[in-house]
Amino acid sequence: MLAERVKKIKPSPTLAMDAKAKALKAQGLDIVNFGVGEPDFDTPEHVKEAAIKAIKDGFTKYTPVGGIDELKEAVVEKLKKDNNLEYSKEEIIVSCGAKHSLYNIAQALYGPGDEVIIPSPYWVSYPDQVLLNDAVPVFAKTYEEDSFMLKPDVLESKITKKTKAIILNSPSNPTGLTYDKKTLEAIAEIALKHNVYIISDEIYEKLVYDGIEFISIASLGKEIKDKTIVVNGLSKSHAMTGWRIGYAAGPKDIIKAMTNIQSQSTSNPTSIAQKAAVAALTGPQDFISVMHAEFDKRRKFLVEGLNSIEGVRCLKPTGAFYAFPNVSRLYGKKTGTRQINSSIDMAMYLLEDANVALVHGEAFGDDNYIRISYATSMENIKKGLERIKEAVSRLS
Ligand SMILES: *Cc1c(COP(=O)(O)O)cnc(C)c1O
Repeated sequence: MLAERVKKIKPSPTLAMDAKAKALKAQGLDIVNFGVGEPDFDTPEHVKEAAIKAIKDGFTKYTPVGGIDELKEAVVEKLKKDNNLEYSKEEIIVSCGAKHSLYNIAQALYGPGDEVIIPSPYWVSYPDQVLLNDAVPVFAKTYEEDSFMLKPDVLESKITKKTKAIILNSPSNPTGLTYDKKTLEAIAEIALKHNVYIISDEIYEKLVYDGIEFISIASLGKEIKDKTIVVNGLSKSHAMTGWRIGYAAGPKDIIKAMTNIQSQSTSNPTSIAQKAAVAALTGPQDFISVMHAEFDKRRKFLVEGLNSIEGVRCLKPTGAFYAFPNVSRLYGKKTGTRQINSSIDMAMYLLEDANVALVHGEAFGDDNYIRISYATSMENIKKGLERIKEAVSRLS
């Protein structure tokens, strides 16, 4: 008999969709994969070299549980330089990916009956990590009209005596939208008033467009910094998803608890990946601007293409590498015996009849949308757009 908690969760639907697309591809089908959640760039060469050197130097043993000093120092420097945030090494933990840092936070903070507010649409792991720790996810809806930013009055209406934390993700996966300062200030004020923590997932920080400046909510003042745990990592900024290095910064007692938890589960993140992360954070950063420029070009092309399709409406994303078009105006339409009534129907139709893989919005908590990742070549984006357009034109 499995434990009760396992019954409450499901495998990551984004990873499942990606696996399905890859399986069809392996069967020889020409699939355009818009389902991916990782940069289609290679890890920078100097980062790889640092890992190779670590292996050759024999840096292949256990390290301190929460990461080597050298890497913590690099993270401290990064947070100071990029985010205007001052932390000491005792306020930093390095984990096996940002997802792992988030999981450690969930274990350290949430208990039975605690409520955690999650703005929806949300990244798929937030609710399940809450559930795995016997707490209750409370969804706070955000709207396209507000660029998918959590409205202060909606947030306030969800807060109860049991509220422990609010999870923020800016830029957002799946919406691709970035919070503005005014909204962050309003959220910070509410969090302080009700004494709840903010968990700020900043993994897409380096991918903001249209001249928008990324702001960490923790940088808005000392008080809110003391109630915030910042989560970030190398996966998206340096195309290092497979290396599994992420980190969190926050109050010492929480970081210490997370480190104890980590000491009883994974122990340290991989030694050689830590050396690679040091190189990524302290070495040349020009890789990021090259990747950024390419994503920006694709973003513009994709969103324009989507909006040219009858029945599809897409906000221009300001961050990350996702577009999140509203396809609900196509619901109720048919082709042959197939009727499209939901985002799952739409995703299945596009996969099976158009060979385009993407993720249904329902997986992220909003059935009116689909998520399209543009972490794929311009050529694929062109081909995928044509296929979607043709498939949608067959609906009536
Ligand atoms: C990719 C992603 C992460 C996880 O990144 P890892 O460091 O690879 O664990 C966390 N949050 C969001 C929103 C993501 O899209």
